[in-house]
Amino acid sequence: MSYSGPEFDPSRQRRFRRAPLAVGLAALVPGALLGWVVYEGVGKPGGSARASAAGQARTGTPKSAPVSPGDDAKVPSPDAARPLQGKVVVIDPGHNPGNFRHTSEINQKVNIGTNFKECDTTGTSTNAGYSEARFTLDVAHRLRTLLERQGATVKLTHDGDQPAWGPCVTRRAEIGNAAHADAAISIHADGAPEGDRGFHVILPASVHSGAADTRPIVASSRALGERVERDFAKVTGSAPANYVGGGTGLDVRKDLGGLNLSTVPKVFIECGNMRDSSDAALLTSGAWRQKAAQGISEGIVGFLRG
Ligand code: ZN
Repeated sequence: MSYSGPEFDPSRQRRFRRAPLAVGLAALVPGALLGWVVYEGVGKPGGSARASAAGQARTGTPKSAPVSPGDDAKVPSPDAARPLQGKVVVIDPGHNPGNFRHTSEINQKVNIGTNFKECDTTGTSTNAGYSEARFTLDVAHRLRTLLERQGATVKLTHDGDQPAWGPCVTRRAEIGNAAHADAAISIHADGAPEGDRGFHVILPASVHSGAADTRPIVASSRALGERVERDFAKVTGSAPANYVGGGTGLDVRKDLGGLNLSTVPKVFIECGNMRDSSDAALLTSGAWRQKAAQGISEGIVGFLRG
């Protein structure tokens, strides 16, 4: 390997010549900031808890501030802190809490390529009445926050009452396609018999029929799904479903419009079985839903970073 470029690029050399004053000032800044943080944390009555959390963030700044030209290389770039900058993720919260009030609208048939199916469904619920639609929306919101923190642009296919029902599964796919999503995920929880437990990720089968042509996204969707499956298991501690997928946590289907009509890498996740009392105890826990979102987020981040 040969190297023909200059030892330093010109902009760095210019910075170096101006360095002495900058170095002196930069060296003073961490101490000054630290003193201020101590004042915020200790000196202000009643402000310690709030200030200490803020202080953690602030004390990070002086550490990463360049104190000499030689340290430039160690400063994390904005890209390193926000690795998903420029990436688009579409989150599809399964069903809609308003669907049960709009049965005629959601029962209309739509063309999913392979056949006609209901526009949308109400979804399932726990035996105590916690609906799948509320669950999916909550996990979607948590997941959006985590992904946005990584720099991603995140779009939801619906957000509770926006719109009041649906949208249809065809539209859910179109939203991901129109956004040119780098990854799309549809969030669900299952409604299987008591004793059926665990989660699984659903991958698109290779389908070429009517408006459906998943052939270009089968491989990338599998890569996405495998990352999500692995990280969801790791973060939540949940086992792969014991009633589908042969213990792999993965299933392949050709009957879901949201997958059939997707032109971007897309998977579904069934986070657990709402009709099983042990799974329901997890699904109704906010702390567990945060873990679920974290596991999904890590899988998506891993997929997008390659
Ligand atoms: Zn569902």
